[in-house]
Amino acid sequence: MGSVHVVARSAGRKGRRHRRAKVDLQAATTTCWLCGHGGAYELDHDPPRKVLLRLGLDPDDPRFHKAAHGSSCRCPTCGQCCNQVKGDRAARRSRMVRDWN
Ligand SMILES: [Zn+2]
Ligand SMILES: [Zn+2]
Repeated sequence: MGSVHVVARSAGRKGRRHRRAKVDLQAATTTCWLCGHGGAYELDHDPPRKVLLRLGLDPDDPRFHKAAHGSSCRCPTCGQCCNQVKGDRAARRSRMVRDWN
């Protein structure tokens, strides 16, 4: 750490590095970090992408990546889109904070 670099606004959401990160994550684990069930193919960020960008951290860094269920892969056990359930909750808490994209 200690090095300062510019993080693109799209970082952590799209681009070659992000696609690569998603593939690596799926190879490492498909256990949802939110509900603990398998079959999670979405890449989620912990801390959230928005927070990483605000802190000047790289959202494409695998250290911040977690597998989660999402709209494209509902949890077969709970039937929910875990990262969206979480996102809705966060959005209600901070309505003033708009997504930067
Ligand atoms: Zn889940
Ligand atoms: Zn589940």
